[in-house]
Amino acid sequence: MKKVVTIQSNPHQHWVGDGFHVRSIFSYNDLSKEMSPFLLMDYGGHTEFPPTKKRLGVGEHPHRGFETVTIVYDGEVEHRDSSGGGGLIRKGDVQWMTAGSGIVHEEFHGTDYAKKGGPFEMIQLWVNLPKKNKMTAPGYQAITKDVIPEFPLANGAGLVRVIAGHFNGTKGPAHTFSAVNLWDITAHFEKTVELEVPPGFTTAVFVLKGEIKFSDKNVKGGEMAILERDGQKLSFEVLENARVLLLNGEPINEPVVGYGPFVMNSEGEIRQAMIDYESGRMGHL
Ligand code: MN
Repeated sequence: MKKVVTIQSNPHQHWVGDGFHVRSIFSYNDLSKEMSPFLLMDYGGHTEFPPTKKRLGVGEHPHRGFETVTIVYDGEVEHRDSSGGGGLIRKGDVQWMTAGSGIVHEEFHGTDYAKKGGPFEMIQLWVNLPKKNKMTAPGYQAITKDVIPEFPLANGAGLVRVIAGHFNGTKGPAHTFSAVNLWDITAHFEKTVELEVPPGFTTAVFVLKGEIKFSDKNVKGGEMAILERDGQKLSFEVLENARVLLLNGEPINEPVVGYGPFVMNSEGEIRQAMIDYESGRMGHL
C-alpha cells in the first residue's frame, strides 16, 4: 500500500487577473522532480462573486511548452485563443489546452454567470510536455461533462469521473502526450476508497472539501497528499464527505526550466520563447 510522503498546502491566496482568487498548491519551482509530469496547480476555492457587467479574469497572455487543464467545479470560464479555439467551460466541464509551440489566450468569467453572480470554484493544472512534443502545434480540447465517463466505486464508497487515463478498463476523453490519469472523485463519509494505479508513477491526492485519512495521515480541504511511487494500491478512509482530485502520471525525466508562462528544457529555449512572443510569432487574439 502506498504511503504518504508529504502533505502539501498553501494558506496564501493571490489573484490571477481580477477573476481568479487562487492558492498555488504546488509548483515546479520546488517540486519539479517529485511532481513530474505535473508542473503546478492553482486552486480557486469556493468564492462568491456578486453580479457584475464587468469582464473579470485575465486578458491576453502567452504560453509555451506545456498544457493547461482547467476544471470548473462551479461558475463558468470563457476562453478564447490565437489558434481559433474558444468557448465556455461550464460547471462539470474541463478544458485541456495544449500550448505547445505557443498560444496566446484570455480567460474570463462566463458572461451569463457574471450577470447573475454566484459561487465559483475551479482548478488549473499545468501538465508538462515531453521535450519531443514541446513545439507541437497548439490545440484545444473542450471536454464537456456529458463525455466524461462516471463509475461507482466499490462498496458504495462514491463516484469517479475519468477526465484522463484509464479506470477499470475504460479510457477518459482527454488526449495526453504522456501517460496521465486524472480522476475527479466524490467519496462518501465512513467509506474506504481503494484505488489502483500503474507502478512508478507520480501520485498525489488533492482534497477540495471534506477530510480523508491515509493509514496515519489526515488530509483536509485545501491539502494535497503526495504518495510514494512504489506500489500500485492506495486506500483512504473518508472522515467527512469529500471531493478529491487524483493526479497520477509517468514522470518525465528531463530538465525543467520555466519563466512565467513558458516552461521549456533550457534557458536558451526560454529566451527564444520571449523573442517569439514579442515578435508576434505566437499569434494574437
Ligand atoms: Mn493562461
